[in-house]
Amino acid sequence: MAQTAIYPGSFDPITSGHIGIIERGLQVFDQLIVAVAINTRKKPFFTVEERLSLLQGCFADNDRIQVDSFSGLTVDYVRKVGASVILRGLRAVADFEYELQMANMNRKLEPGVETLFMMTGEEYFFVSSQNVKEIVMLGGSISGLVPPHVEQACLSKLATDKDG
Ligand code: ADP
Repeated sequence: MAQTAIYPGSFDPITSGHIGIIERGLQVFDQLIVAVAINTRKKPFFTVEERLSLLQGCFADNDRIQVDSFSGLTVDYVRKVGASVILRGLRAVADFEYELQMANMNRKLEPGVETLFMMTGEEYFFVSSQNVKEIVMLGGSISGLVPPHVEQACLSKLATDKDG
């Protein structure tokens, strides 16, 4: 039976750090669903549709990766698509506490769903969607921290936000 894992996150936007986790995740799982969690409490930089389209731009030609979005509990989504594994990345100690809490809460909610963590590669441990956005807004280069089409989208978004 093909083993599918769900990689949930905000992906606002997808970074090279996420891509590293996805590539390594494919060495363990047959299929990955990269799922944008719709969080109405966070004010995003990119809309859900834009984030999905940026993800498609990375993975459209890889038939082992699907891109989707969901609202509500992650464990409910995982069950809905018939999977039982959540994949998450760990960067630093700062991620640990939050991820530990989430993984345990999710296991409490749905004991049949397990969370697996992958350690970030040393080349991307310092990359987050948040610092990518901050660098763009401050006029710095994010080349290499995100794929080229994402860099382009960040610059266009910044320009339209300034105009608007
Ligand atoms: P969330 O808003 O749910 O934290 P993110 O989109 O920021 O979602 O990240 C999704 C997952 O990817 C999280 O598990 C996060 O720790 C992980 N992640 C983000 N950036 C990196 C990175 N540079 N290296 C490894 N894992 C990462």
